[in-house]
Amino acid sequence: MRTVYLDHNATTPVLPEVFEAMRPYFTENFGNASSIHQSGRLAKAGLEQARQDIASLIGCQAAEIYFTSGGTESDNFAIKGIAFANRGQGKHIITSSIEHHAVEVSCKFLEKEGFEVTYLPVDSDGLVDPNDLKKAIRPDTILVTIMYANNETGIIQDIKSLSAVTREAGVYFHSDAVQATGKIPYKIKDIGCDLLSISAHKIYGPKGVGLIYIKAGTKIQPWNEGGGHEQGRRAGTENVAGAVGLAEALRIADLDLQAETEKLLSMTTGFYNKLKDIIPDIHLNGSFKTRVPNTLNISFKAIEGESIVLSLDLNGIMVSTGSACTSGATDPSHVLRAMGLTPDLAHGSIRFSFGRSNSENDIDYIVSILAREVKRLRSISPLYAEKG
Ligand SMILES: *Cc1c(COP(=O)(O)O)cnc(C)c1O
Repeated sequence: MRTVYLDHNATTPVLPEVFEAMRPYFTENFGNASSIHQSGRLAKAGLEQARQDIASLIGCQAAEIYFTSGGTESDNFAIKGIAFANRGQGKHIITSSIEHHAVEVSCKFLEKEGFEVTYLPVDSDGLVDPNDLKKAIRPDTILVTIMYANNETGIIQDIKSLSAVTREAGVYFHSDAVQATGKIPYKIKDIGCDLLSISAHKIYGPKGVGLIYIKAGTKIQPWNEGGGHEQGRRAGTENVAGAVGLAEALRIADLDLQAETEKLLSMTTGFYNKLKDIIPDIHLNGSFKTRVPNTLNISFKAIEGESIVLSLDLNGIMVSTGSACTSGATDPSHVLRAMGLTPDLAHGSIRFSFGRSNSENDIDYIVSILAREVKRLRSISPLYAEKG
């Protein structure tokens, strides 16, 4: 059966070049980067080269990059690390109501630890208003954490304005840039953030590795305790192959950014236009303008997203409802609810996330299967029959 993978925001395949760049660090150069002998030095050299390469790609100093086990750890590290190191200055944290669970649950944890968290609303396009942020900042605010691009909708925040407002108030600013990285061009110094999270497996790198950028001079509590790895801030034998893979994945993403953007935009636009012509009562969540080029989040009136996912899967098409981490849960997406969608429409939403494994000739195939399946599901839906 023909398969079409449309879930690149959940994860991506490792590119062959990335795999090849990593290979020597599993075999010949397997050493522990902390060992002082030749094998260790080779591993250390690979690790530090990766750090250097990434620093020049994202526009920061190599010493400001700390490798982690991925986006989730980076988010936890940023939020808990800043909170605990700066609790003497205040106990107030600001975030948005559409964050990834790694951020949301870290904030919820801090609330149990006596911190106060403000969850900023978003408009119907999923955007945080920098004026709302300005008003929410208090003398005891120690951290603002707002994501760059949303994993469920692809909506891109006005991150420079949000960062500028935060900086003006002298408060630390963190951004989860896991979904923005490799999809929109940015440099750390242009954003002006103090902390930023990146994950490798969303950009055709390996799973289980990521990084956190921490601006020099930032007061943050170390994460893992143990040896003095990662400048004493994140103990644990370094995942050298993973770091090398992340660097290579970032290099390729940067190199191909323009071509990929054009290709993805053409695919998502073509897909949406065709869909809209053939299937009635669909709703694009978030505006077309302020989104990463690969993601479309669409609600299908009167049917459950889960039913669509399953029937598409039987036809070899892989999509998801909302984020991968919440699939299986029956609560409607907190992101779509925050954008003002009714529970009904939020329940009927599907995320289509395109990527390198797709081509233009997938479009007609998925549109035709989708049209057939939506029609079938609606024909057995009492909700749709009622409304005609
Ligand atoms: C995937 C994702 C994460 C988590 O990254 P992992 O490396 O899978 O832990 C965090 N934030 C966003 C926005 C994501 O899409």
